[in-house]
Amino acid sequence: MTRRQEIIKILEENKQTAQQLANYFQTELKEIIEDLEHIEKSIKPRKLKNLPANCRKCNFVFRERSKIKKPSKCPRCKSEWVEAQMFFIQ
Ligand SMILES: [Zn+2]
Repeated sequence: MTRRQEIIKILEENKQTAQQLANYFQTELKEIIEDLEHIEKSIKPRKLKNLPANCRKCNFVFRERSKIKKPSKCPRCKSEWVEAQMFFIQ
């Protein structure tokens, strides 16, 4: 099984952040981001969905999808306690 196939299998069963996948496969975050972009096209008609990143302190939701990378700071309360966006397949 290729890494992309494995990622698909994982995301069918669990929600994961890109960083969690990078840790699991012991690879660079940018490799995972490339995989996710590829997967998004290859799994049609299914969809790669994501829960947006959010601030754990004030619940601010980061609406714009900023290249999968985790925002470092909340623009509303300036907290750095930010939950990265999570991916899953539906
Ligand atoms: Zn906040």
